[in-house]
Amino acid sequence: MNHRAWDRRTILKQAAATGVAAGLARTGFALQSAKAPAIERVVLVSFAGGVRSRETIQTPGNVPTLMAMAKDGVTYTRARSSNLGHFGAALSMFTGISEARGIRENARGGDPTMFEYVRKDLGLKAGDVWIATSGGAQQTNFSHGLHADYGPLFGASTLDGDGLFNADFKAILAAYGKPRTLGAEEQAALDRMRRACQTQAQGDSRAAAPDAESAARIERYILDELSGGTADLRGANAADAKALRVARNVVSIFRPKLTAVVLQQADIAHGSFNGYVEIIRQNDAALGELWSAIREDPALAQTTAVFVCPEFGRDSDLNSRRGLDHGDGSEDLNFVSCVAWGGPFQKNKVVTDDVRVIDLCPTVCSLLGAKARLARGKNLPQLLA
Ligand SMILES: [Zn+2]
Repeated sequence: MNHRAWDRRTILKQAAATGVAAGLARTGFALQSAKAPAIERVVLVSFAGGVRSRETIQTPGNVPTLMAMAKDGVTYTRARSSNLGHFGAALSMFTGISEARGIRENARGGDPTMFEYVRKDLGLKAGDVWIATSGGAQQTNFSHGLHADYGPLFGASTLDGDGLFNADFKAILAAYGKPRTLGAEEQAALDRMRRACQTQAQGDSRAAAPDAESAARIERYILDELSGGTADLRGANAADAKALRVARNVVSIFRPKLTAVVLQQADIAHGSFNGYVEIIRQNDAALGELWSAIREDPALAQTTAVFVCPEFGRDSDLNSRRGLDHGDGSEDLNFVSCVAWGGPFQKNKVVTDDVRVIDLCPTVCSLLGAKARLARGKNLPQLLA
């Protein structure tokens, strides 16, 4: 499909001609081909913490998963990043607007996120849209902004790498695996978590009680988290690995419309180049688990898109600690590589034209049939075959 085919009229004409206009036309905007299997779900991995292309697609041995995805998908080698602060740059992936926020700011933005666009336009419940983060409290601000037309009513369900409702969950995990039944307190905590899970999965409190299937899936999620050892993940990238594992469980069990993961531990690079490379390698392996889970699930394999993109790169040269900062304004810093994989996407396609990291927001929204009305990015070019 050439660039013209992204044009809305062309799409609708194609869709009408083949009789599948209903779904596409519902929101008045869509970019999917009428022929290919449609993308029904999106997983966006913000491979954040500041990661250069030099250590990813330019050193394939570091990232076998990413290379395999690239071979079976589309790679944008020149995605311009938004600014130099981790928080604002990662937030801009979700809002499609360059966010002028410093790294230490800990507040929600005024702009809607892709989660809000998708939930509002598609009428989705909270359980259909998730974000799993590695970086603690600040990153929970990614789940929604404060725009009057969107906001918390349309936010993503949030999880950090330690799973849902951490304190309770940790207590259960600590008890689990010992050859005894749960104590009364632990059982009560598990019950509380089940109820909380059900609330999350069902959306806001006005929603109906969970049906049997939802309840069963929630149960399976809890058991998978308990037995899957998410909390026991060790290693330098433990927080990132947990966020990816939690996302894998959520994607497999809830099959949400939109799931985002935000990593951050590559930022160890400030003090250690070698440590940074190790984080990238381990995160690529954890990404492999998530990708495998998608490909092995017949309900997900053909219709789920995965995007992997850092928020920005890093400096060209090592600092005095043999680390890498981010502030030299170099191409290594300002341009990152973005990999897109999914059934109808082009295969083994490398796009060397300049695109922008903020293009992810409108692209993801368009694929799902929503419109990122305030986003300034554009749909990523040459994505569809
Ligand atoms: Zn940093």
